[in-house]
Amino acid sequence: MDRPICSYCADPAVFVERASELHLCGAHLKESVERRVYEEIQRYTISGTLGVAFSGGKDSTALLAALSKLQKKLNISLIALTIDEGIAGYREETIAHAKQVCMTLSIPHKMISFKELFGRDLDEIMSASATSNACTFCGILRRRALEVLAEREGISIITTGHNQNDIAQTFLMNLFSADLKKMVAGSFGTEGSSRFSMRLKPLFAVSEREVTIYGMLAGLFAELVECPYAHHALRGEVRSMLSDLEYRRPGATSNIALCEREIRTELLRRREATNVSPLIPCTICGWPGSGEVCQVCTILSRKEVK
Ligand code: SF4
Repeated sequence: MDRPICSYCADPAVFVERASELHLCGAHLKESVERRVYEEIQRYTISGTLGVAFSGGKDSTALLAALSKLQKKLNISLIALTIDEGIAGYREETIAHAKQVCMTLSIPHKMISFKELFGRDLDEIMSASATSNACTFCGILRRRALEVLAEREGISIITTGHNQNDIAQTFLMNLFSADLKKMVAGSFGTEGSSRFSMRLKPLFAVSEREVTIYGMLAGLFAELVECPYAHHALRGEVRSMLSDLEYRRPGATSNIALCEREIRTELLRRREATNVSPLIPCTICGWPGSGEVCQVCTILSRKEVK
């Protein structure tokens, strides 16, 4: 059987966009990914230095590589921001990869650890905790750690490596739990409090497969161990449901992601509809939150994690 050829040149295709039947060779896939990242960033008014939340995993690696290619065109500079949650057998390897990628791309790299910031790493918190849902604690603490690191570096915009599949999955998970607040939670940045950074997801229009191939083409892909706590049952179900749907109905994932954006934008416009009250300073740490005690201090003051 003949190998499919790129729709734009005579080179062999490395990726097929099934919804449009577009075939792309390596060079045209890279160009296409970088164009979409550029267009996504152009939706906002940004300047100065962008922080890149950089775990060292495939999504944030692809994001850093694409942004480093676009730095000049966007007239921005970059700092990679890595959080060391303190997860034995996992974080050492990803942090080593993160350092290597930053050196290769000549991007300044800053790190902060849970241990430094909260006095305990995630493993210690989890071994003392009665709950097994590490991701809930990790997500809340990591978000704060990222804000602290960004504040320390004088950064007010943080880009994250969420790809189109992540966005569609999260949207469906929030729908299944009827959680409108969560749907807009990550968007409050600049609106909710000037202390929070603005968050951008430049891979909004890039699928997980494209991200993986882009990382490989950039020579930065590494097969890394998975986080030992990563067993979110609902996300796994939604991921396989969505990939099945995408197979039968090409384009479904991107349509869901587009709907997510429209709904989130509308919810933000009608903030009162989400029942989100104005943020107030936490009585313990002073960071803005929705109650007297913020989520971070609530976790850290739980008897079993002290
Ligand atoms: Fe944290 Fe969960 Fe991600 Fe592991 S899988 S790094 S615990 S959010």
